[in-house]
Amino acid sequence: MSKRNFIGVDLGGTNIKFGVVSEKGEVLYKGMRSAGKKLGREGILQNLNKAIQRCLIFADKKGMKICGIGVGSPGTVNLETGKIEGSCPNIPQLVNVNLKGWLSRFFQFPINVDNDANAMAWAEFKFGAAKGYKDVLCLTIGTGIGGGIILDGKLFHGSNFAGAEFGHMTICYDGRRCNCGSIGCLESYASATAMVKDTKRLLKKDKKSIIHKLIEGDLERLTTRVIFQAEKREDAVASRVINQTCVYLGAGIASAVNLLNPQIIVIGGGVSLGGQSFIDRIESQVKRKAFPSAAKSLKITRAELGNHAGFIGAALLVENGLSMTRQVR
Ligand SMILES: [Zn+2]
Repeated sequence: MSKRNFIGVDLGGTNIKFGVVSEKGEVLYKGMRSAGKKLGREGILQNLNKAIQRCLIFADKKGMKICGIGVGSPGTVNLETGKIEGSCPNIPQLVNVNLKGWLSRFFQFPINVDNDANAMAWAEFKFGAAKGYKDVLCLTIGTGIGGGIILDGKLFHGSNFAGAEFGHMTICYDGRRCNCGSIGCLESYASATAMVKDTKRLLKKDKKSIIHKLIEGDLERLTTRVIFQAEKREDAVASRVINQTCVYLGAGIASAVNLLNPQIIVIGGGVSLGGQSFIDRIESQVKRKAFPSAAKSLKITRAELGNHAGFIGAALLVENGLSMTRQVR
């Protein structure tokens, strides 16, 4: 058994996923609970606290030593202070909360807080689809679009920890309004939320679509899972939305490829339900638009660690975060 174990927590808009992870990336214990978003800031923090306590109870029972606690949170996370700064559209209650400060009142461990997509990228880089590569771009496409960048084997945060906000790259300068307040962001075109919205709009005009049957006439039941299901049955509305999503993603990813020239792009999140054919279509769009020299040996692949990537990465980043904090100071 590995001697160094960490608690990792992935604080999501809907659920909190958590676990005990060894330094070798093995998941020794895992759990999930509702984030309790409706309970407000205090409720979310209490749920976070309870998740960590469950991990500690497990470690205690097994006689395991815990070496630190890592949290992946939406929003811009100041790595130095542990405070959520700036925009956090998916859990706005957390803006200006010092997560690290709050947690250190309850837990006497080294604590590191980083952005949730950074955590996912780090896990895929260390033990998942991007293992063995050094220049990696990771995208997580779900309610929103998050991103993580690893350059020369190091997680890139940007000068104010606000880098890698892949979902908020402008793909249409006078386009749709985004949750972040800006206009034309990739997230407002290609996230799961955008796919569902676009499908609903088309369904109003197309009464023959099989989707009406799949959701039993209740538009509230529409999810990306249903859209991908309908596409398999050659539904025109579903095909149109999915193909268009691949075009949007292709545009965004090609820009990032031209800027950073990564070796590999890892795509995760709910939208990866689309399977290999979805990835292939994104890849053909990227290769069509990006510089041939940058696209030539580029690999695009699905994330491997699934739902666990966020908390695994958060746990593995504890040591990385501590060394970075020392550097910053
Ligand atoms: Zn935006």
